[in-house]
Amino acid sequence: MKQTELEQAVAKRRTFAIISHPDAGKTTITEQLLLFGGVIREAGTVKGRKSSHFAKSDWMAIEKQRGISVTSSVMQFDYQGKRINILDTPGHEDFSEDTYRTLMAVDAAVMVIDSAKGIEAQTKKLFKVVKDRGIPIFTFMNKLDRDGREPLDLIAELEDLLGIEGYAMNWPMGSGKTLLGLYDRVNNRVERYRPETPEQRFVELDADGHLPADDVIAKEATYRATLDEIELLDDAGNQFDADKIARGDQTPVFFGSALTNFGVETFLNSFVQYAPAPTAKKTVGGTEVQPTNEQFSGFIFKIQANMNPNHRDRIAFVRVVSGEFTKGMDVTLERTGKTIRLNNSTEFMAAERETVTEAVAGDIVGLYDTGNFQIGDTIYAGKQGVAFEPLPQFTPELFMKVTPKNVMKQKSFHKGMQQLVQEGAVQLYRTYSTNEYILGAVGQLQFEVFKFRMQNEYNSEVEMTPMGNRTARWINPDQLDEKMSSSRNLLVKDVHGEPLLLFENAFAERWFHDKYPDVELTSKL
Ligand code: GDP
Repeated sequence: MKQTELEQAVAKRRTFAIISHPDAGKTTITEQLLLFGGVIREAGTVKGRKSSHFAKSDWMAIEKQRGISVTSSVMQFDYQGKRINILDTPGHEDFSEDTYRTLMAVDAAVMVIDSAKGIEAQTKKLFKVVKDRGIPIFTFMNKLDRDGREPLDLIAELEDLLGIEGYAMNWPMGSGKTLLGLYDRVNNRVERYRPETPEQRFVELDADGHLPADDVIAKEATYRATLDEIELLDDAGNQFDADKIARGDQTPVFFGSALTNFGVETFLNSFVQYAPAPTAKKTVGGTEVQPTNEQFSGFIFKIQANMNPNHRDRIAFVRVVSGEFTKGMDVTLERTGKTIRLNNSTEFMAAERETVTEAVAGDIVGLYDTGNFQIGDTIYAGKQGVAFEPLPQFTPELFMKVTPKNVMKQKSFHKGMQQLVQEGAVQLYRTYSTNEYILGAVGQLQFEVFKFRMQNEYNSEVEMTPMGNRTARWINPDQLDEKMSSSRNLLVKDVHGEPLLLFENAFAERWFHDKYPDVELTSKL
């Protein structure tokens, strides 16, 4: 690919993830986006992955049981001259550190909120991880076809709970049964909720932002109330600020209903306009690698293990940071300095696996891996070495004690443990005094995958004893005194030997804080 071609291809990429709390409507909106992208022709296709439809495929047993399919890990389509990559962020019981790590591979995030519920727990967690990266966040207030909370209330909540300004790109006229449509401030038009014909869907507003006097909606009290609200927003609301949006300090807010496909297209059109193309990425040395740099580079943000129980292969997901990926190319694995030929690569579409034809900065490539890669690894082509900044460490919330079932099989237990921890499947801690093994995770699925893989790949049956939810806080080693440890605030060390306390609950943490007011406690992301 010539340099100018590369630049054009990179400028077209829009790579993002959708963050939301379960049931807010992520699947439904994803499906609508895929419909607009022409990837699927019928609604219900994406939902199908939760049914038995995919059971015949050969993914690992846990995936089969749960009906998750890796084929939907990345969905790619072309829309309005842009190439869109949507990265799936599993929630519910499938929530894991991979969900967080996926957010390290996107250039923007879309936050879907149920307008009746407002910001919920999982959205808050995912938001924190995205916000930390300082990337643009777009908000879709969903389920407008139902009675929800006051729009002003929802915008205020963004500021109060998440600390981000909201700028309403459009505004609902009524809600639930009284929903008339959207007042679109950006495109200066009204979008009717249930137009009689498709041609009547959009009505242009005049220069003062008013509907034609003879329009049916213009006669409604709800419309006049909306005009008052818009005036209020114009005068006292946040001003649209592209720089703040780019930094993730302001979020453009769109209202709509994914289920009835209302406001989704308007959202998508704005999104492709304002979402950023791939940006540069920092290296360990503090320099930046530009996406249009012709030398290929990328990093591994997720490893999906043992897709096929008959083969121990895994798929390593690479975010391409610069240049062009070509099949069969030689790359250097920065951690080991080894050269690896990338023969078998796949790119993931919504419903089928396809071989990569063209992947440039911004795209995601899945590489078949026989154990070469670890999460966070940098790979690059050419002679000039590149090492990207390591992925952040996340604070686990769930903990398990783990021991081998058969004490005679210590060796395989230790080997499996070491490799799975290195690979990033779970986090490992040791108790200070007794050196017992404790596993930490952000989602239950990580433990299940760990147990399954220990058995299947290392022939090591493990005994796991749940310790439940704990609050992990790293403690300044200089202030550490082993006497501070108790069962309610267990002292352990992480894989780097850094000490931390696992508090049983918020009460135990407060108690500790009162007793040792000068001791510094910190959390990871
Ligand atoms: P996810 O868990 O975030 O992926 O949520 P889903 O997309 O599976 O949606 C959860 C439920 O909410 C499903 O029953 C959807 O049909 C429903 N839903 C999604 N969007 C809307 C909407 O705009 N209006 C209404 N009334 N229901 C919706």
